[in-house]
Order: sequence, then C-alpha cells, then structure tokens
Amino acid sequence: MANLNLNIEQVTLKIKSGELLCQEKSGKSDVWLNFEEIIDKEEQPVGFAMCKNCSQLFKYDYKTGTSSLKRHKCPSDEKQPKITTFWGKKKFLLLPKK
Ligand SMILES: [Zn+2]
Repeated sequence: MANLNLNIEQVTLKIKSGELLCQEKSGKSDVWLNFEEIIDKEEQPVGFAMCKNCSQLFKYDYKTGTSSLKRHKCPSDEKQPKITTFWGKKKFLLLPKK
C-alpha cells in the first residue's frame, strides 16, 4: 500500500489533475455504498475516501477502519446541493487545458 502521507488539499488537487482516481469499492462494509475510495494510478488506496453525495474527502486508515466515514452526516441528505456536478464540471474544465 502506498504511504504518501497526503493531506486533504493535496488529494483534492490530485483528483482534479487526474493523478488520483475515485473507485467504487464493493467492500464488506455498508459505508462503501456512500463512499468511493481514492486510489492512485497503480490502483493502490491512498488512505482517503470521498462521500458520493457531497464529494467531501475523508482520511481513513485501514487499521482503524471506516468508523470516521460512518460518523459523517452528509449535508446533502437534506438539501441535495449539486456539488457532485460541480466536481464533474471542474474536472471537465480543467482537463482540456492540459
Ligand atoms: Zn456526504
């Protein structure tokens, strides 16, 4: 497993630049219904997960598990803001300039 010691800001930038990817994870835990795992290009988890609903990033540790993800109270459960489209749009706008 890659041990990059990234912070959330760095991960956000790397996702936008395409260095890191989001991956659906079919794990044993229910949290992966609501979260996607962040992986690098070798498909190694980098210790972060993103909420599918509000696109918020969370650090998580394999050793401590997904309890911090389970505690996440998703704001979009009530308001349904279109942050996911914002992410998609951002990506779309950033890529062609490369
Ligand atoms: Zn959320």
